[in-house]
Amino acid sequence: MKEDKIMDVMYTSTRDASVKVTASQAVLKGLSDDGGLFVPERIPSLDVSLKELSGMTYQETAYEVMKLFLTDYTKQELQDCIRAAYDSKFDTQEIAPLVCVDGVYYLELFHGATIAFKDMALSILPHLLTTAAKKNDVKNEIVILTATSGDTGKAALAGFADVKGTKIIVFYPKNGVSPIQEKQMVTQQGENTHVVGIHGNFDEAQTGVKQMFADKAMEQELAAHGYQFSSANSINIGRLVPQIVYYVYAYARLLARGEIQEGEAINVTVPTGNFGNILAAFYAKNMGIPIAKLICASNENKVLYDFFETGRYDKNREFVLTSSPSMDILISSNLERLIYRIAGNDAQKNAACMKQLSLEGVYEISDDMRMELQDFYGNYAGEKETEETIAKLYKKMGYVMDPHTAVAACVYEKYRQAYQDSKKTVIVSTASPFKFTGTVMNAIAPSFHAEDDFVLADELSRLTGLKMPKAMEEIRTADIRHRTECEVAEMPQIVRNFLKV
Ligand SMILES: *Cc1c(COP(=O)(O)O)cnc(C)c1O
Repeated sequence: MKEDKIMDVMYTSTRDASVKVTASQAVLKGLSDDGGLFVPERIPSLDVSLKELSGMTYQETAYEVMKLFLTDYTKQELQDCIRAAYDSKFDTQEIAPLVCVDGVYYLELFHGATIAFKDMALSILPHLLTTAAKKNDVKNEIVILTATSGDTGKAALAGFADVKGTKIIVFYPKNGVSPIQEKQMVTQQGENTHVVGIHGNFDEAQTGVKQMFADKAMEQELAAHGYQFSSANSINIGRLVPQIVYYVYAYARLLARGEIQEGEAINVTVPTGNFGNILAAFYAKNMGIPIAKLICASNENKVLYDFFETGRYDKNREFVLTSSPSMDILISSNLERLIYRIAGNDAQKNAACMKQLSLEGVYEISDDMRMELQDFYGNYAGEKETEETIAKLYKKMGYVMDPHTAVAACVYEKYRQAYQDSKKTVIVSTASPFKFTGTVMNAIAPSFHAEDDFVLADELSRLTGLKMPKAMEEIRTADIRHRTECEVAEMPQIVRNFLKV
């Protein structure tokens, strides 16, 4: 069956050492029953050389990485998933281009269907999930339920649209997302997609979805009609593993272009919210990619910066709305996987921290654990600094960044000045500037005033010579397909109506 003799990697829970499941079971379940996250029992090492990797396409690299983590998928299955995910949905064959600007390398992860980095994982998750269902003899159709504050919902819709064996229902706060975000969602194609605006805020949408996941009676009712719920949440291992790929790819590209010697260490800087993206970089390092510093960039919601400074995680603070909304987060769920790891893979120790976090909003790690964090550097960028960073690079080099990427660029500059570290550095670029035209235009053309996002986008395109992304062009004229609205309490009934149960 399996061509390569790879030792199976099993998955355990960050909160219960007795849990042991296969990769496909972990993908199917998403979250462990004890509330913990699935983690591989060991992080596998790459079994091809950096030199060999430097000759590979994105898809080939994806296979070399994913085969080591998802060991119960066959070669054929993985390659089919990869082929279906990383195709012409991306506007460049490189999938994740690495662009050198002013001596720094920007890894552009925004060339997919929704022009932001969530596409990197959400374009493959549906295929990993449906394959996992087949492998585990799940006959039910998978129904994805998602609550969204904007971006994840659209990326999940785009990923699951018309994927056989799945349906997806997305709930968003009717008056709580931007006009562009709403338009992106309500114009979504695909017979299996459903989008619902709820009369409530994001937390209520989220709570409503969680209640349906926990509702045993509803579970049985659905099963009787051949359905089961699943989630596309960012803690799914099926989202984390595909994110490791682009760090391996970025290093291999640098090597292929002769920018670095084989084995030469680089730094990476990641604009961070839920800690999924930077955790993938940490896994890449542990697989054997020569990464020196992992630079963790936060916006004014600087919980992670404070954590790296003091060893104390404290979410009890004011929540700040910033121009980098995908990083406006006070609980970085994926950090749990790092805590587990620096506790020496000790589920009990980790569970104690997480319990304290849920009860008091705070936990503190031991000095031993802090010693394990030396590869990380954390800092943050304020709103003004972020806008200045966009303006400065545009003036100097003509390159336009979105606000999330600018937070990373600003923090990298702080690091470089503090440590005089001249290693080659990759800055992860997580969104197209066209997705955040208000902030971007304010930074690069402050005298231009317009409310309408499309007017701003046209001007951005004219000014910079950048082509308007297809994702924007499409929604400008697309028909509205989804008009359902409901009260929070009606969410389960809406789901039943859609599924005709
Ligand atoms: C989700 C997101 C981030 C944060 O990534 P995490 O994995 O949650 O740390 C950064 N930038 C953009 C544009 C995002 O959509």
